[in-house]
Amino acid sequence: MALNLIMLGAPGAGKGTQAERFARAKGIPKISTGDMLRDAVKEGTELGRRAQAIMARGELVSDDVVIDVVRERLTRNDVRAGFILDGFPRTVAQAQALDQLMDGRGRLIVVDIAVPEAELVRRLSSRLVCEDCGTNADASGVFTPTSCIRCGGRLKQRSDDNEAVIRERLRVYRRNTQPLVDYYGRRPTFCKIDGAQTADRVAADLSTAIEALSAEGGVA
Ligand code: AMP
Repeated sequence: MALNLIMLGAPGAGKGTQAERFARAKGIPKISTGDMLRDAVKEGTELGRRAQAIMARGELVSDDVVIDVVRERLTRNDVRAGFILDGFPRTVAQAQALDQLMDGRGRLIVVDIAVPEAELVRRLSSRLVCEDCGTNADASGVFTPTSCIRCGGRLKQRSDDNEAVIRERLRVYRRNTQPLVDYYGRRPTFCKIDGAQTADRVAADLSTAIEALSAEGGVA
């Protein structure tokens, strides 16, 4: 059976980093709506032109637009063995659309990565991302990294990682995305992970939790 996974959690919770690690370990694609939208902005497509200003303000791109992007992405062959969605769904309407898209694809495991807000702000204001491959780097230590550990590319601050936009993104998260914890919370395939630990510890907890859920329901 396919391993279908979604990562919930606030901006800065580590969803992208963990999704990337897990996807690589399992050989399934990580599908990040944020990355897809940023690519569209870079390429100057119609989608990118529509999303650019909204993303710069830290608001959400409309449900219809993002649902179409995900629907199209899930038609590709590489998702047959499963996928990890990162940054989608972000609203109850998107979660309902995803439930419909999941019809006939097997179960959906939902992981919520929980991190206190002060820690989220600290992480977001000190994170750098690779201009080439999008890998995150932590710049909160004594030495600021200058190049990507994965591909050697140049690191820069994400344009929406400034204080005003961070506050807005966290507000949007509380209002629109946190209700998803109630939406999914009572499902037997839901689990919560403590994200305020090192990336290695979070990854270990994540794998244990997913293995347990997969074993219970015969997902993987
Ligand atoms: P992320 O990289 O996941 O933090 O996403 C960056 C920005 O892309 C968000 O602040 C939103 O403006 C937009 N975005 C990404 N995913 C979604 C989504 N599922 N629904 C609406 N907007 C999204």
